[in-house]
Amino acid sequence: MNEHFTFRTNCPCCHAGSFRTLYESVLDSSPIKDYLNDFYSPQGGVEFAYLKDAVYRLCECTSCQAIFQQEIPNDTLLEKLYEEWLDPQLALLRHQKQDGLAYHRQHAEEIMQVIALLGKPPAQLHFLDFGMGWGQWALMAKAFGCTAYGTELSRERIAHARANGIHVITWEQLPRPQFDFINTEQVFEHLAAPLDTLRYISRGLKPGGLLKISVPTAHNIKRRLAHMDWKTPKGTRLSLNPVAPLEHINFFRRKSLLCMAEAAGMKEVTIPLKIQYQHTLDVSGLKPFVKSVSKPIIRKVWKQPNYLFFRKT
Ligand SMILES: [Zn+2]
Repeated sequence: MNEHFTFRTNCPCCHAGSFRTLYESVLDSSPIKDYLNDFYSPQGGVEFAYLKDAVYRLCECTSCQAIFQQEIPNDTLLEKLYEEWLDPQLALLRHQKQDGLAYHRQHAEEIMQVIALLGKPPAQLHFLDFGMGWGQWALMAKAFGCTAYGTELSRERIAHARANGIHVITWEQLPRPQFDFINTEQVFEHLAAPLDTLRYISRGLKPGGLLKISVPTAHNIKRRLAHMDWKTPKGTRLSLNPVAPLEHINFFRRKSLLCMAEAAGMKEVTIPLKIQYQHTLDVSGLKPFVKSVSKPIIRKVWKQPNYLFFRKT
């Protein structure tokens, strides 16, 4: 096996040993090589020597139904991927260009809902953004008066967040009951050991504290995997981005998230509709209004998307 990869022998979400292979193809040949070239070239670039003979093998757990990649990059290759192949300066410029009012508004609405649910003045609340990226969510929590913490692996992102007054803490400082809320936004799909990580970081919650997991949703994943079309663009109906090689190494069904939480001693908490509506109604236009009215219903009735809150049992 390629020395830059590690091999999973259990489901990373529930640790069950029974799973089946859905698809496999080598990373350094067509069609995946072409996909990687198209995807990474505008953001930096891939050095294919590091991927020689590595296999993209997609498996499905027979217990929790999580879909996961069996061969995943080791720590050295991950650092290369996130610090070099995805150029941090290009990523920052893209964020500054793309993230408009709606993006920041979403953070504000979510933080207001969590503060309302916790029912304490913001000055008494300590919020952590686990895998904070450039620290935009943590900065918003700070703007509401909460004490904002963040963790991140990328050196450039850590320096950026520190310069903006976010308390950056290390992995070793995490498991001390100090946080009222732990945010994880589009993080768990990237983790080598999601269940182990959830167990570890949830030790950082104060009694009654909440943890959010938000990961990509694709209700038609079976159809996407039946087509397996690597040329389909990101954001379209049959895109394979939810199972993107190297990065999206875990794909969760709702059942997978609930199994993982249960194994970590946590239980789902739903935010009451009243709190959601009090802090999300957007009357800036018809489309945003309809969206803000329907979102809490879609979450409650259809249990979509993969956006869940948990509390320790
Ligand atoms: Zn599983």
